[in-house]
This record gives sequence, structure tokens and C-alpha cells, in this order.
Amino acid sequence: MNSLRPKISIIGAGSVGSSLAFSLLMKGAVREIVLIDKDLKRAQGECMDLNHGLSFCRPVNIYAAGFDGCKDSDIVVVTAGAKQKPGQTRIELLQANTEILKEIIPQIVRYSPQAVILMVTNPVDILTYATLKISGLPPSRVIGSGTVLDSSRLRYLMSVHCQVDARNVHAYVIGEHGDSELAVWSNASIGGMMLEKYCPFCVHNATCRRDKELEEIFQQVKNAAYKIIEAKGSTFYAIALALVRICEAIVRDENSVLPVAALMKDYYGISDICLSLPSIINAKGVEKVLHLELSDKEKLQFKKSAETLKQVIKKINF
Ligand code: NAD
Repeated sequence: MNSLRPKISIIGAGSVGSSLAFSLLMKGAVREIVLIDKDLKRAQGECMDLNHGLSFCRPVNIYAAGFDGCKDSDIVVVTAGAKQKPGQTRIELLQANTEILKEIIPQIVRYSPQAVILMVTNPVDILTYATLKISGLPPSRVIGSGTVLDSSRLRYLMSVHCQVDARNVHAYVIGEHGDSELAVWSNASIGGMMLEKYCPFCVHNATCRRDKELEEIFQQVKNAAYKIIEAKGSTFYAIALALVRICEAIVRDENSVLPVAALMKDYYGISDICLSLPSIINAKGVEKVLHLELSDKEKLQFKKSAETLKQVIKKINF
């Protein structure tokens, strides 16, 4: 049977993979969704459940399959692998999930050599780099979800603090999707005004201790996954929406700016590592990584984030 386009295959039909399928279905974003999991029964169960809602949604073919099912995908999203246990860091998942990638990436390339691979499994930045090495694909077609989720968390928390719609708050978290990430306050803006210019208009201006409150917001962003995992075992709704946003930018060839994890080429002297920076995303994958200008403090933090991950990468056997 010929595939319907756009087609997205999701490897890993667990909490994140199935939430992504549900979100894609709700958005009517694609015509074909394939769920692939080593637990075929689980993937089949998720597909039955999703298909039973089709009379309320735009038409889409949803089915479970083996790796051959990802043939002719526009995007293959990888969510397969171990997830954090309460208190566990993302880096601690590295060894187990690298072994899984060695098994699945060659299969993706075999059946869908033209697809964009969107890595979600943690530690996402290092596994994006590992996927680049294992697949041999051009860097534009290997993307990690990176800090798209973290940036959304930041925008949401700023919107609550400043009482402004999150869609009018523009701010990025960059670097690692994890403990060494940083918020780029020097470029944050609300309604076209740089943050420090906006503050006098804010409802909290009289009482706000700006630096302290921004630091508290950032700490909440950085520790969000730990808190959610502690409370309910895993995070999946917001990441699913972040993934839909990335997928739409690709299948609709949107040239959207999103902070995905991509290969760095001489950004403040940093190369040969995948980290998040705002990047132009379209049908080719990453069209361009934008070299955001940082303050001296942010530059140091970004370099530290890169150095932390480089030390970890050295220990992996691809
Ligand atoms: P989950 O345990 O619910 O699902 C994982 C699925 O992967 C399971 O169904 C499992 O059977 C499948 N799987 C394992 N090995 C496989 C293989 N070799 N081939 C095919 N399928 C395989 O986990 P989850 O909550 O969906 O999380 C998945 C990953 O996503 C984790 O690594 C988690 O840390 C990560 N995650 C990343 C972000 C992000 O922002 N990047 C956010 C949330 C979760």
C-alpha cells in the first residue's frame, strides 16, 4: 500500500509516543501515523484506541507496524527507550538508550533514508549527536527536540508572573535540555519590548525584585521534569505539543524559528556537538542555526554547558 503524505512514524509507543500520536490526531496535522514499538501489542492497543476517535477528527491512517512500516516517512520521531526514575538525571539514561539507538537508527535509515529524524529520547542532545554519527545522515536531517519544551515552560511561567499571554512572551532556553541549560534573559521580550523596558508596564513592577524572581522562574523551568516525575511518574503532554509544533514546521515547510538541538558549527568557538539554539526549521529539517548574541555571562554558561556534554560524549562507544 502506498503511504499517504505527510506521514510520521513514531518509534516508541509509550507515554510520549502515544501522546504525540493523540496530539497529531487532534491537530489534523498529518495523513498517516505509524506506531512502532518492541512491544507490538502495546502499539496495536494504542492504535485501536486512537482509531476509535476518528469519527471526531480529520481523516488519518493510524496503524502499528514493524520497522518496515516507517517506509517513506516525512519524519521519524524517536521516543523509544528508558525514562528517568524519580531523582535520576537525564545523563544517567545514556548507556541504556545508546544501545537502543544502535539497534533502531540503522533500521530507520534502511526504510526511510529521506526522512528527518526527530530525537526525543533522553539525554536528547547527546542522543541527537549519536544519531548523527550512527545514521551518517546530513546534520540538517537529524534534530533533537532540545529546549523547545523548556522554552515553552519559561514562556508560560513568565506569562503567569507578568500576566501576559504566553504567546506574546518571547524568550529562549538554550544549551543542554537538562541541568546545564540557560535562559537567555538578555534577549527576552514581551510585546516587542525588551524585558527591562517592559518591566515598568508590568502589574508587579512596584514589588518585583526582578533578578531574584527571574532566577526563581528559571529554577522552576530547569527542575520542572524532576517535579512532574516525582508527582506522576513521567512527563508527556507538553512534550507532545512541542513535538507537534516541530513536526508542523517540517511537514508544512514553515521556516519557523524553534530552539531544537542541532549540530553546532563554530558558535562562540563551539563545534561538533548537538545543543539547542533558535534555528530555522522547514521541510529540509534544520535550514539554519541562528547564532544568537549572548551577554558575557550567558556566553560562559553556554560554553560550560557544551563542555559538560563533550566530557560525557567522550565516554560513549558509538
Ligand atoms: P515509556 O517507557 O512510556 O515508553 C518507552 C517505549 O519505548 C516503551 O513502549 C518501550 O517498549 C519502547 N522501546 C524500548 N526499546 C525499544 C526498541 N528497541 N524498539 C522499539 N521500542 C522500544 O517512556 P516515555 O515516558 O514515553 O519516555 C520516552 C523517552 O522520552 C525517555 O527517554 C524520556 O526521558 C524521554 N522524554 C524526553 C523529553 C524531551 O523533552 N526530550 C520529554 C519527556 C520524555
